[in-house]
Amino acid sequence: MSLFRPEIDRIAGYVPGEQPQETGWTKLNTNENPYPPSPRVVEAIKQAAEGRLNVYPDPLARRFCQVAADRLGLDPDWILPANGSDENLTILVRSFVDPGETIAYPYPSYVLYETLADIQGAKIERMNLRPDWSWDHEAAAETVARSKLVFVPNPNSPSGNRWSDDDVLRLCPEAGMLVLDEAYGDFADEPHRGELLQSSVGDRLVVTRSFSKSFSLAGIRFGYAVAHPDLIRGMRKVKDSYNCDTVSIAAATAALEDFEGMRSNVERVRLTRARLATALAELGFDPVPSQSNFVWCTRPGGGHRELYEALKDRKILIRYMSFPGAGADTATTIDGLRITVGTDEQIDTFLDALRELV
Ligand SMILES: *Cc1c(COP(=O)(O)O)cnc(C)c1O
Repeated sequence: MSLFRPEIDRIAGYVPGEQPQETGWTKLNTNENPYPPSPRVVEAIKQAAEGRLNVYPDPLARRFCQVAADRLGLDPDWILPANGSDENLTILVRSFVDPGETIAYPYPSYVLYETLADIQGAKIERMNLRPDWSWDHEAAAETVARSKLVFVPNPNSPSGNRWSDDDVLRLCPEAGMLVLDEAYGDFADEPHRGELLQSSVGDRLVVTRSFSKSFSLAGIRFGYAVAHPDLIRGMRKVKDSYNCDTVSIAAATAALEDFEGMRSNVERVRLTRARLATALAELGFDPVPSQSNFVWCTRPGGGHRELYEALKDRKILIRYMSFPGAGADTATTIDGLRITVGTDEQIDTFLDALRELV
């Protein structure tokens, strides 16, 4: 007999990408930044470590909020820091969705949303995207109308495309919340600067950001939400009291202060991304034009899983992903390969191996 809640027994749990702990891998599977964070971050971590680790951190991470707010031209009470952007997604579900209510999200996209809904005992509804990753707004509107919360990653993963502001604003429920998950926003041609928060749906909109990708801090666990202070105030009641620690607050604050350092790493990633997409097309793949730090591609003949396995044998790790139940008919399985944009050298290693395999 299990003592777990039925919801927990029923689910498999979210399975993150592989994280081999030994060196020697060309690791292009979980969208980390290949470049180190700003030297100022390392300095800030050292200072924090030599400081007062025996006392609790600021529960509101106010120093960080001030820097983030200045950058966005908002007041600090618009910001909610969290232990990685994933924690803010959890806080949002716990804050706004009762068991039995509906959470919707585009499919294929970030499957963690399903796990969060399952744990809460909420219903999850997929809004299946068209084969070219665009929205079927007519079909989506019905789902949105009965949803309490809609998650939209923009740019999307695994496809890497970015939808227009008009596209995403249409996905806000009349009586519910729209969450724009901008984990990859900094890699887009036109990164959002929080302007959607001033739109007509601003009182029902939360934007989430991450330090794991553009700021090269996946190992630190820090993210933040931006929303109207009334929303942030409620979400604060749901978060752990000390959800961000002294070291991560210092690191994230220093990282945001070196915004130019982040921009120059992002620029390098964007150049390599273009080169990777061109090479994939030359090898007969169909890469989706990416606004993120990864490229999704398929091959007319398929065989994606086999390619992933063959690369893994050579200690090159990319992501094979399969999404059953896709398409307007919910009977299509979309599968393909998602390749994180690494350094030029890592991408050359990958491309050399790929050329031998195809
Ligand atoms: C990586 C990722 C996150 C999680 O970011 P963390 O700050 O590392 O928790 C959230 N959403 C999407 C779509 C992501 O790809």
